[in-house]
Amino acid sequence: MICTLLAFYSLFSRSMAEARERTFIMIKPDGVQRGLVGKIIKRFEQKGFKLVALKFMWPSEELLKKHYADLAGKPFFPGLVKYMSSGPVVPMVWEGLNVVKTGRVLLGATNPADSAPGTIRGDLCIQVGRNICHGSDAVESAKKEIDLWFTEKEVVSWQQANNAWVYED
Ligand code: UDP
Ligand code: MG
Repeated sequence: MICTLLAFYSLFSRSMAEARERTFIMIKPDGVQRGLVGKIIKRFEQKGFKLVALKFMWPSEELLKKHYADLAGKPFFPGLVKYMSSGPVVPMVWEGLNVVKTGRVLLGATNPADSAPGTIRGDLCIQVGRNICHGSDAVESAKKEIDLWFTEKEVVSWQQANNAWVYED
């Protein structure tokens, strides 16, 4: 009996932990300039994911160089930093089951020429250097990016009222 209860508890707690996965999503300067902030946020909201942090800011080159440190050796890096620091952005944290992987699916392929129709990039942009949004590529990089862009206090833990209608349990 106790074993059964424990098994149920571990299953339940695992699914709760998985549903608390977080990803870092950012609307880039072109997304802001083109008035696509609401549309991009809506895709994540409608999917059922939970918004736990959001701000509007003009990022420094220094912050962007840290954010894209892995790409520092790429020929497009200087242009990428210039583009990303050319205006305000909307950094966000979204929470939910498999949100890192599914968030990338919602965004679509890096190069909009290859992004499927129905995805954010597939529907709303044309070139890789103006692809309107960023999304973390793994749970580990999401953690790093969230820590880089937000303080602990800026990320809010809360219960979404529709939770039982989005998740089975
Ligand atoms: N990028 C670019 N040219 C390229 C590849 C990437 O300008 O050939 C830019 C593009 O804005 C992309 C960002 O660099 O979103 C980061 O590249 P990454 O490969 O990490 O793609 P992402 O994770 O954003 O899909
Ligand atoms: Mg990336």
